[in-house]
Amino acid sequence: MLDDKAVRAIREDFPILDQQLHGKPLVYLDNAATTQVPRCVVEEIARHYATDNANVHRSVHTLSSRSTKGLENARETVRRYIGAASTREIVFTSGTTASINLLASMWAARLRPGDVVAVSALEHHSSLVPWQQACARTGASFEVVPLDAKGDVDLAALEKLLARGNVSLLSIAHASNVLGTVSPIKEICNLCHRYGTVVSVDAAQSTRHETIDVCELDCDFVSFSGHKMCGPTGIGVLYGKAELLESLGPVMFGGEMVDKVRFGESTFEDIPIRFEPGTPNYVGAIALARAIDYLEDVGRESISVYEHFLVGEVEKGLKEIEGVRILGAPVMRAGCVSFSAEGLHPFDIASFVDKKGVAIRSGNQCAQPLLNEVYDDGSICRISPAFYNTQGEIEECLAIVDEVIGFLRRIG
Ligand code: PLP
Repeated sequence: MLDDKAVRAIREDFPILDQQLHGKPLVYLDNAATTQVPRCVVEEIARHYATDNANVHRSVHTLSSRSTKGLENARETVRRYIGAASTREIVFTSGTTASINLLASMWAARLRPGDVVAVSALEHHSSLVPWQQACARTGASFEVVPLDAKGDVDLAALEKLLARGNVSLLSIAHASNVLGTVSPIKEICNLCHRYGTVVSVDAAQSTRHETIDVCELDCDFVSFSGHKMCGPTGIGVLYGKAELLESLGPVMFGGEMVDKVRFGESTFEDIPIRFEPGTPNYVGAIALARAIDYLEDVGRESISVYEHFLVGEVEKGLKEIEGVRILGAPVMRAGCVSFSAEGLHPFDIASFVDKKGVAIRSGNQCAQPLLNEVYDDGSICRISPAFYNTQGEIEECLAIVDEVIGFLRRIG
């Protein structure tokens, strides 16, 4: 596990952390929304624009070749990071939301009335609404797999649904951005495959602190975002098994993704370029690859163990604050802990906590169905540490949350 000295050294890589907010040192604990970016990633973006920038895949000149090489090397870095069999399986998108929308639009072409698309009850809107809309367009049914009392996906209910034999696809988060539930993706993929159901994994929350080996887990599709793993915004990935991607037709058209274009008809490139029309965010992809190198330098296992430890500390500390309700108690929790305090608005808690220099999230966390229809708790606060947070910061945050809750109760 990362020790104090290692974490202090890591913090030096993140210039943004070294600042005061409202006269207090910044404590950034909203990493489930966006992680901070290490200096090497910022420098890589500047370096590319300063020395190598040109459009990719289009020209023979040297700068274009450098940019293209950077983009394709980035594809290889992503492939290696998630254990994919081939770079042909790595589609660059603008983020998880774009990846799942792309997949849902393509998958819709094969949905018919009588087919089912299932999502778990803990999905982020991005892993739910695109499928709900695909079903509405095609006449397929949209089904929700419930959670058990602890906030884990109810696998018995999932199997019962799968046994109907008409579930085309399951959309499921690897790690929940609200409950922190880490779902047993390998078991879920095995179960789904037994019934001929394809699995789309939303890995937005898990790529930093869980190891994702798509071959070992046997995922069919995986989506994630650069900005939740120390990369820049505006870049993400849709991984798909080659044979599945090959079976899908493009839904966005334009430059580069075509093979032959005639006035009468067009043919399309091979995967993955077929799904990357127009100028891709090649600088974002190159910077994402740098972020991956950085995470690997810190050590994926060390990050995972340390972040699990910090989340445990958050949970333990929140339990000691009177009147705090922690959402869920899943078998395995990672990344974040969400809570509410009876009679108090999360917006007020997070606003007063911010005045003490501590950034935590409040709101519906883009999971309205989970909060309104499962937990009856429309809005919550969320604390989500990353590997550059210290144990001292967690203690400070918890003390401030305690103090703010006490203060808000007193002023009524
Ligand atoms: N899925 C989950 C579980 C998330 O937590 C998020 C973002 O918070 C998303 C999807 C959407 O990611 P993005 O906004 O990067 O597209």
